[in-house]
Amino acid sequence: MSNSHDFRPIVGIDLGTTNSAVAYIHNGKPEIISSPNGKKIIPSVVLIDLKGKVIVGEDARSALVAMPDRTVGAVKRQMGSDQPIPIAGQALLPQEISALILKELKSYVDTLYGKGEKEAVITVPAYFTDEQRRATKEAGELAGFVVERIINEPTAAALAFGLNHMNEDGVYLVYDLGGGTFDVSVVELMSGLLEVKASTGNRQLGGEDFDWKIVDFLAEKIMADSGVDPREDIRAKALLKEEAEKVKIALSESVSVPIDLPLVTVKDNKPVGISTVMSREQFVGLIAPMLQETMESIRKVLNDASLSPKDIDEVLLVGGSTRIPQVVELISEMFGKEARTDVNPDEAVALGAAVQAGLKSGALSESGLVATDVAPFSMGVAVLKEWKGITERPGGFAPIIPRNTTIPVTRTEKFYTSAPGQTEVAIEIFQGEHEWVKYNHRLGEFLLEGIPQNFEKQEEIEVTFRYNLNGILEVSAKCVSTGKEMTVVVQDALQRDSKEAFQESFGQLEKLWGESDADETVDEPDWEEVLDEIDFDEDEDEELTPTVLHEEAIQLRNRTLKVLNNLDASDQNSLRHLLEELNAAIAENDLTQLRKLIDEITDALIDVEL
Ligand code: ADP
Ligand code: MG
Repeated sequence: MSNSHDFRPIVGIDLGTTNSAVAYIHNGKPEIISSPNGKKIIPSVVLIDLKGKVIVGEDARSALVAMPDRTVGAVKRQMGSDQPIPIAGQALLPQEISALILKELKSYVDTLYGKGEKEAVITVPAYFTDEQRRATKEAGELAGFVVERIINEPTAAALAFGLNHMNEDGVYLVYDLGGGTFDVSVVELMSGLLEVKASTGNRQLGGEDFDWKIVDFLAEKIMADSGVDPREDIRAKALLKEEAEKVKIALSESVSVPIDLPLVTVKDNKPVGISTVMSREQFVGLIAPMLQETMESIRKVLNDASLSPKDIDEVLLVGGSTRIPQVVELISEMFGKEARTDVNPDEAVALGAAVQAGLKSGALSESGLVATDVAPFSMGVAVLKEWKGITERPGGFAPIIPRNTTIPVTRTEKFYTSAPGQTEVAIEIFQGEHEWVKYNHRLGEFLLEGIPQNFEKQEEIEVTFRYNLNGILEVSAKCVSTGKEMTVVVQDALQRDSKEAFQESFGQLEKLWGESDADETVDEPDWEEVLDEIDFDEDEDEELTPTVLHEEAIQLRNRTLKVLNNLDASDQNSLRHLLEELNAAIAENDLTQLRKLIDEITDALIDVEL
């Protein structure tokens, strides 16, 4: 391997909520590219240390508790949102933070291949929306990759398995429960053709949620004993979260685990801690409803594929959370057999992304493996729809590409003008499964003009949806009588960030990253120095500048106002109360109070949105 060959290396990347990994094809087999200290997977955590140095991975993860204001974890849960995330006094978009993780992985690839252009296949949960896919693609580009493909994680896992088991024709179920998302797909392997039959999932369900359940459990115990809610103290909250994950992982091995934390937070200058024992049974009780939800998704995906559990030949378990014994048990109960154990739950997705990369580059063209995937949601347009058999009202959903259609796909449907003399139609594009668009996810809108005046329902409009292999949609509308046509790529139509914004973002990240290059020799942060410099008092206002806090507060207020009316009365009241306090804190420029309220409201929103 060298630079002298005229080729552009291509790698596969699993950009996970909790952990990330990069792989390539070596001697006809996918292989992980390890970090310089030999790690195959790295935590998806970013730290900007006190010197402005970017640190990604294990060391950043160790700083989550000591420097919660300077670290960001689980950023994947916010992909697709345009809310900046505060880190070390700056505000970065989710795709920018993800780009820093990808830059770290790219540095391993550069070590292997030397500098120069690299292509990447990046995975996303099958259930990611169009925006989340676009944000992921942008993260890859910001990190300096040419993003060749975005593929679905369960499909990637199946590809890795398929390459190793080319002759094992059968129907497989891939159950992927990671840190932040849950995906389940039914896949058929037949003579080297790997065909995804159906796919579903939950974008907000994973090991992170299990950790927070334990945090709540411990916090309530502490509150009952001492009257303080440790979750109100950002550092105590981070400490409990760290402990919760340790306890959860230990409970996969042992049936009970002692918890001893003498100092969680402080009350009246006295330490407040906790000492207790958690049993596996208690833990399973806390997460049972979430595990049941994953079982529901299995029923749904089987139903979509017109299969029953007995039709599944093998179950592949992917993702760290499938190490929880209760998950394994529920799966064997449902299918009447044990899941396969020869799939590495941490590496399968990255290895599969590399297989896809190899199929593209030709490195695996001899293998005979071919893969097809499906669209995980229905996509269509808003139309007038009969309501209660009486009137027609706007906002009905007319699917054009039904969910689980094999991709790439092009479909055309005919519609008609609805009012006499109508000269334009708005094409409003949605994805989702509800018959009314307001319950679905809006992808965009455009206007087809220049329709000849005519009686109602006389002018025919043809709407065509093209959905490509990256899960990116192009829509066109044509007035049949005039032949006039308009096409938009939903991706471009919705691109909030202009080219300049991308360049600016790219430059900003280069600079952040560059500062870290300047100081290559420091690997381990000097903890004593770090801790010395941290102001452990409540008052940390230099760390987050007032403008960043104000902006964050205002955005949070707007976001809260948007969801407020959909909540039940008690949630509404408590949020209204918090908003009033927030307004007062903005007016009074009370930064400590602002920070506290931002935390509280964010928590409250997470609770009601779940
Ligand atoms: P992601 O794909 O979201 O990055 P991973 O597949 O790497 O996630 O899984 C990470 C999740 O798995 C974390 O929530 C972690 O706590 C959890 N996990 C890892 N090992 C275990 C274990 N032995 N028992 C229970 N949960 C585990
Ligand atoms: Mg994963």
